[in-house]
Order: sequence, then structure tokens, then C-alpha cells
Amino acid sequence: MGSIPDFWNEAIVPALTDYIRIPAKSPHFDGEWAKNGHIDAAVTLAADWCRRHAIPGMTLEILRLPGRTPLLFIEVPASPGAEQAGPVLVYGHLDKQPEMTGWAEGLGPWTPVMRDGKLYGRGGADDGYAVFAAIATLRALRGEGRPHARCAIVIECCEESGSQDLPACLEALGARIGTPELVVGLDSGCGNYEQLWGTTSLRGLVNGVLTVEVLTEGVHSGDASGVVAESFRIARQLLDRIDDSTTGAVRHPAFHVPIPRERVEQAERAAAVLGEAIHGKFPFVPGMRPMAAALDELVLNRTWRPMLSVTGAEGLPAPANAGNVLRPGTALALSLRLPPPLDGQSAGGKLKDILEADPPLGAKVTFRYGQAATGWHAPRVAPWLERAIDEASVRHYGKPAMWMGEGGTIPFMAMLGEKFPRAQFLITGVLGPHSNAHGPNEFLHLPYAAKLTACVADVLAAQAQPRSG
Ligand SMILES: [Zn+2]
Repeated sequence: MGSIPDFWNEAIVPALTDYIRIPAKSPHFDGEWAKNGHIDAAVTLAADWCRRHAIPGMTLEILRLPGRTPLLFIEVPASPGAEQAGPVLVYGHLDKQPEMTGWAEGLGPWTPVMRDGKLYGRGGADDGYAVFAAIATLRALRGEGRPHARCAIVIECCEESGSQDLPACLEALGARIGTPELVVGLDSGCGNYEQLWGTTSLRGLVNGVLTVEVLTEGVHSGDASGVVAESFRIARQLLDRIDDSTTGAVRHPAFHVPIPRERVEQAERAAAVLGEAIHGKFPFVPGMRPMAAALDELVLNRTWRPMLSVTGAEGLPAPANAGNVLRPGTALALSLRLPPPLDGQSAGGKLKDILEADPPLGAKVTFRYGQAATGWHAPRVAPWLERAIDEASVRHYGKPAMWMGEGGTIPFMAMLGEKFPRAQFLITGVLGPHSNAHGPNEFLHLPYAAKLTACVADVLAAQAQPRSG
């Protein structure tokens, strides 16, 4: 058996190339997913590959609960002699975000393209690589005679839809998951491609649609304006209750939490290491500046502060079709990111109350929230784990590990944090600068991913060592 980089080239890249071709969109984006069969094709591809590269004693099952997306569940027994070590849970997902527009010439969501050590296409980095990397770590450890604990690998197919099927699957697996001592999540980000990054927190999220209705049908705007209030303006007025349109700061105190001192210090260190790459990684139009000048403030803005985005609209015709009409209403899709420890459900309820209270001029205002996910705040990292992560980073990347929060949401993490309050976490991933998960031109940085796999292997080996305390 070759080294981890060889295994990546020979076994993982070909499988990921096939996986990218499968439009395995998450149920949110493919209501007919069961009939279309793409999610099934992705799970089958991964399962077949895992069987071909099985580790001695490994068992694999595709859990199919009625009406739910499948879940790939793999158990690998502890390496001989490491049976005393606490179990490990490794997490990833196979469902994908939708296509999005804006793919560069020659690239496309379902067209795998290798360019400059990067594998382009939807889902390679978010999060198709995870299952292959997980198997690669255990194979490498076995091959090198290094220890690892009993390992449960959970690969779901509903992450991009808020992991709505996951609790039922975990319930069904029950004791087979056990009580992990270490959870390794491979669906997160990295600040650069030069060292290992541990995720310390994730933001929560409320998604919903704000609808403002003012008329039962559209009317001549020359006739009505000045008598009938404009629905977009009322929506704008309602959004002012949430954030400050000048600064973007969410002003309502219901959506804020104090930021812990340790996280402020880590943000300062991350800002020092990353420098202007913190904002340089975004495709700003020429002349456009970031929301704050101080780099550590930008880190905290995107990891610990609530932020509101309007992600969609209805009731607004395309400009070419826009007549001089006072439209009957406006609907805006809102996405409110939440500080890590804030409860998503209660934030969703508060957002609804705030937006619907006392509607201007008696307009019909409703806010329906779909997803309301709680973020995640890592427990304090145990000294053995901090040391193992740092040593692995130095060994494979030549630089110490870094810690930073992520701005996105992995609903699974909140569930896990609650379910296993005593577990330690290594939440990491390959979503670094320009990798653009969810957008066009998503890529997987292959050298980074291979080194990350080697780092995870080292951490698993360290976890399996006997230690006191
Ligand atoms: Zn993901």
C-alpha cells in the first residue's frame, strides 16, 4: 500500500472525479431526489469504493429509513492492541449544493476538471472527499502499524438541507455509534492552504421569507403612488428593525452574545497570519472595500456576529418587464447568521415577532422561517489533542496549526455537541480561499487535502495512545 499522497492520486481522485459528475443535489434543491436517484448513485459509488478499499474487520451499511435520505455507516474495529481507546466518530456528507451560475469557461458543476492541482466541480470539496479521506487515514495507519481506536464513520446525504434526516438516522443507529471520545468533522474550512486549521465555532442560521402585501392586485403607479405605500419600502423599513443599513451591524440585542476572550485572541492571531487574505479571497468588484478596516474585526464579524443577507426575492419583475406599476407585494428571502451559542429556534421565533409586530400602515406582513439552526461552540481543547494537532500540522505542512471560527453552519455539530458533551472535537476541512463551496468554480485543493488526511491519521494515532487524565 502506498503513502497517503499516492493513495489520493491513485484511488481517491478517480473516485471523486466520478462523484462530481453525479448531480446529487440535496433534497432542498431536488424535491424529486428519491425518484431521480442521484443521491442514491453517489452513496452507491462511495459504498462500492469503500468495500474495494476495506480495512480488515470493517463493516458497511447504507441505512435507508422510509422517506429519508440514505446514510452511509461504516464501522472499523480498533487496531489490535488499541481496544482500550475511546471510540472516534468521523463525519462527512455526500449531498450537494445546486449548480449556481457563473462557472468559468470550461468548468461546470457536473464537469470534473483538473487544473493546477485543483479538482474543479460541485461537491468535491463540500464534502465528497470526506468519506474517501476517512478510509485513507485508517488504511494508512493499519499499513504503517500505527494504532487507531474503534471508528464509526457517518456520511449523511441531507447536510445541505439542514441535516433534517440525521437525528432519525442517529437514533436508528443508537448504540452502534457509542459515546465518542473524539469527533472528527471533515466538512469545515481552512484559512489558507499552508497549515492545519481547527474550527472553534460555527454560526447558526435562520432562513425565512418576509412577505409584505399592500394591494390585492397591481395598479397604475401614477394613480396610486402617494396614496398606497410601496411594498418594497415597507420591507426596507421592517429590515431596519434588524440591522443598520449603513453599517450592516445587526442592532437588535436579541441576536447578540458576548464574545469570549479566548476567541477574540484567536481572531487576532488568525488575522495576523492571514493578513489581507481575509477579504482578498472574495471576488470584490474593482473599487469595493470590505465592511471594516480592522482585520480581526472582520474575523469576528464573520464568525461571532449576526449578519443579515437578502438571498432572494419575489414579486419583482425583471427590469425589462417592469411597467409603471405599484406592485401588490414584495417577498424577500432572508438569511440571518447567528452567533455560535445562540439557540436557532428561539432566534427564529424572535425574528418573526420583530418583523410581524405593528405592521406599518396595516400592511399584511408575514415571516415564515424554514430552517432555524443553532451554531456550535467548541469545548476547550484537551492538551493531548492540542499537542497532536499542532505536531501533525508541523510535520505535514511545516507550520503550526491555527484555530478560527467559521461563518457557516453545520447543523449536525449542534446536535453532536448536545448529544456528546464530553467529546473532544477536531472540526476541519478543505474549504479554503477561493474553493467556493456553494458558488461557481468550486474546487478541491488536492495537495492540501492529502496533507490534511495525513494530519488526521496522526491525530487518530495520538488519540489511540494510552494517556493519563
Ligand atoms: Zn458541506
